[in-house]
Amino acid sequence: MATGSPPNMTPRPTGHPQDTAASPRKGMRPSVGMSTTSVHAGELRQKPGDSITDPIFCASTFTFASTADLLDYVEGRCEREEYGRYGSPNEKSVEGKLAALDNAESAVIYGSGMAAIVGLLMSKLNAGDEIVFFDQCYHRSREFCAKHLSRFGVVTRQVPTGDYGAMEAAINAKTKMLVSESPTNPHLTTVDLEQFVALAKAHEVETLIDATLATPYNIRPLDWGVDYVLHSATKYLGGHNDLLAGVICGSSEKLESIRALRGILGGISSPHSLYLLERGLKTFELRMQRHNENGQRLAEFLAGHPRVGTVYYPGLASHPTYSIARSQMRGFGGLITFEVLDANWKETARIVDAAQIPRIAPSLGGVESLIEQPLVMSYFSYSSADRQRFGIADNMIRYSCGIENGDDLIADLEQALQA
Ligand SMILES: *Cc1c(COP(=O)(O)O)cnc(C)c1O
Repeated sequence: MATGSPPNMTPRPTGHPQDTAASPRKGMRPSVGMSTTSVHAGELRQKPGDSITDPIFCASTFTFASTADLLDYVEGRCEREEYGRYGSPNEKSVEGKLAALDNAESAVIYGSGMAAIVGLLMSKLNAGDEIVFFDQCYHRSREFCAKHLSRFGVVTRQVPTGDYGAMEAAINAKTKMLVSESPTNPHLTTVDLEQFVALAKAHEVETLIDATLATPYNIRPLDWGVDYVLHSATKYLGGHNDLLAGVICGSSEKLESIRALRGILGGISSPHSLYLLERGLKTFELRMQRHNENGQRLAEFLAGHPRVGTVYYPGLASHPTYSIARSQMRGFGGLITFEVLDANWKETARIVDAAQIPRIAPSLGGVESLIEQPLVMSYFSYSSADRQRFGIADNMIRYSCGIENGDDLIADLEQALQA
């Protein structure tokens, strides 16, 4: 296989707040636009078979021509693949692309977002350690921390999202990491990364942001001094509802132990999924522009609708963290959560069922719009006290805008709300 290093494809500053005043890493590397990055970064310019696209390498293992070749490898004189669990050519291409998009030195890909979260926390935490996290989060992340990390002697402390005082009060000598999503799911609360990072630095602990809902198009948390950024690539990065994957971005040094443990835990992504992810990423910027546009339009439509109560969307001035989102994000994504006025859960379900364009399914961030009622989809087994604690109302609907035409999505929602 041809060798050589991929071109440096760091996204160019775009006038986005993260590229101007507050960004500490501004101008550190030569840069190009985001689509140039997502189309070309990570890939070899001349590929096997002279193919323009990366071939899918269906190989569980990689061969050595001779014992001398093997010795060159084990003694560190050459870089190459060894065995599929430790890495593959398809993985290298996509990791290069994702690292460049997030302005990171390095990226580690997993078979799903959850595998990435588990891989990171298992690699960085020991029995007796503690982490503090904001309580609005993906329910399985919360479940892993509360039910499983605890079995290994790691204490996780949940504090109310956006309460930096409570987060600081929960930090003690055993604390190793502060964890949050931004924006959070499903309340779309934006975390003030400046405060979050300052708090961590003051107490010499690390930070992890799950930026699945934002994507590197809308914010790059590493530029704000966050140590690890995590994405479920199943969502916007893959973007076509046809694969599962997860990724952690950060410095090569911090990712080294994470990558080594992945080689043991084995939560890797298949060459076929990686090819789909690479293909999906080529249109990443174009898709995000439409997701952002549709999200903003639908949120404004819903906010003005007589049958709709609270609308949670980072780009609405009515959202409690609007000013943070405005100052730190370029756009606000395609996910909207809203409450139907004076509706019980069955009346709310009727609206979900009446929508003609979005499909009823969990997940978000794909080209197809999706709709769901969090009470039924993710929280049906929870007690009503717990649902209340996590802010899941009976009349809540979560809508993930796809890339369909905004006028059509609005007209469809209008008729559904009249149902
Ligand atoms: C979907 C999601 C995950 C989990 O990712 P999978 O790829 O489904 O394992 C984690 N965090 C957030 C915010 C998500 O939306």
